[in-house]
Amino acid sequence: MVWRLTPIRVGECDVRDYISFLDGGEATRTYTLYVWVLEGPEGPVVVDTGPSDPEGFSNATASYIPGGVRQTPDEDTPVALRRRGIDPSTVRAVVITHLHGDHYDYLPIFGNAVVCVNGPGYRQAQDGLAAPVRGFLATGDRLRLVGDEEILPGLSALHLGIHSPCSQAVIAATAAGGVALLGDVAYLYDNLEDDRPPGGCDPAEWRRAIAKARAEADHLVPGHDPRVMERFATGG
Ligand SMILES: [Zn+2]
Repeated sequence: MVWRLTPIRVGECDVRDYISFLDGGEATRTYTLYVWVLEGPEGPVVVDTGPSDPEGFSNATASYIPGGVRQTPDEDTPVALRRRGIDPSTVRAVVITHLHGDHYDYLPIFGNAVVCVNGPGYRQAQDGLAAPVRGFLATGDRLRLVGDEEILPGLSALHLGIHSPCSQAVIAATAAGGVALLGDVAYLYDNLEDDRPPGGCDPAEWRRAIAKARAEADHLVPGHDPRVMERFATGG
């Protein structure tokens, strides 16, 4: 089973370097916000949802994301997905890398999807979830709490627990080998390629998590690097 992965851009913002790097300062660099579409015989599957309330997210993160999220009307997740030919109601599964607003807020538009979240992390985070999402996940039989396991053929979850207790990589078998979407365990390629741990983490734990992901995948993809678009446009 081979999946085709497409990053969909749903906005951008400028983030302080002390978030991006353990040794970072007050300068900012631009992050891209992504939703991922995974297409294959068992699909479509979506990884992360983008923010449904960019203004609220921007207000909550103003100290380290000065200026907030910038989003064009076309980058609103349902609009961006439909432009790519994906109707959210046809999405079979949504896998959430971690339960932060810019990654899960739009879950309720995926009314027919199974939602895969890391189990122990979900139990810790559930009381703090946005009310519409908590209500959505409580109805029907849609929530699937996962550990290190296969979700669908050629698609698995791998718990990493950095950045948020529920952080998990989503690993897809592709024509170019195994690709691990790391969520915010790494924000940027510089974290991975220069071995620069992100801010706010224990560097030894972070390196252990990255090694765990590397053992399972050929390519690691950070959560917010603008270069993801170029690298995937040119074949990954
Ligand atoms: Zn994020």
